[in-house]
Amino acid sequence: MRQKIVAGNWKMNGSLADNEALLKEVVAGTEGLSGVVCCSPYPYLFQLQGLLEGTHVAWGAQNLSQYEKGAYTGEVSASMLKDFGCSYVIIGHSERRTIFGETSMTVAEKFKAAQEAGLIPILCVGETLAEREAGITEAVVGEQIDAVIGYSGVEALNSAVIAYEPVWAIGTGKTATPEQAQDVHRHLRERIALMDSDVAGKVPILYGGSVKAANAAELFGMPDIDGGLIGGASLVSRDFCDICRAMG
Ligand code: PEP
Repeated sequence: MRQKIVAGNWKMNGSLADNEALLKEVVAGTEGLSGVVCCSPYPYLFQLQGLLEGTHVAWGAQNLSQYEKGAYTGEVSASMLKDFGCSYVIIGHSERRTIFGETSMTVAEKFKAAQEAGLIPILCVGETLAEREAGITEAVVGEQIDAVIGYSGVEALNSAVIAYEPVWAIGTGKTATPEQAQDVHRHLRERIALMDSDVAGKVPILYGGSVKAANAAELFGMPDIDGGLIGGASLVSRDFCDICRAMG
């Protein structure tokens, strides 16, 4: 049985007051579940630590530096995230790749830095609409995952989570059908199995892209979909809690 996970990606949203209300509702509304994660902007991690420590909800960040420490103005290291009790960190989100120019090599370095500090990376992969229409989805996600495996080794996926997020489905309201998502999840698992079938069988692969309470159960019911990475809906406690409960 693979661990099911629903992770909220708050992106650049939140305020002290809004976060407190949201987190209290998430803790109450997901009682008894495991695999619930909230990933906030850096400045709020101290608040998440204060409110979530001792609860069943884990927390994390949305990015980190590939460097350990030093003259990297504006950056945040993996050990700093550990200081604030983070268990997870999102790596290689498509917004980081496209808006901030992160390459697959940078993503691989960040993945390694996260693991070396004892954080669980949530590695995002996904194709654009143009890439899907060109029929190169598998090649695109394959290159993204191979970069990390090439740098850290396939066994590194034993303590990692993968999130398949088609770029055309993120924040657009357009969700991949359960079958479209399952096809890519299966491909990822088969690709990893060529290197190590044990790792392939164990690594959780989440789906992300306009997941809502109304479509979560159907997506999470597919054989290779182990939960979700949730953007917009993770800011609305009732929606996020409903999605968490759809983990079953
Ligand atoms: C995301 O940001 O990872 C995401 C999946 O966003 P949304 O759920 O809003 O599409």
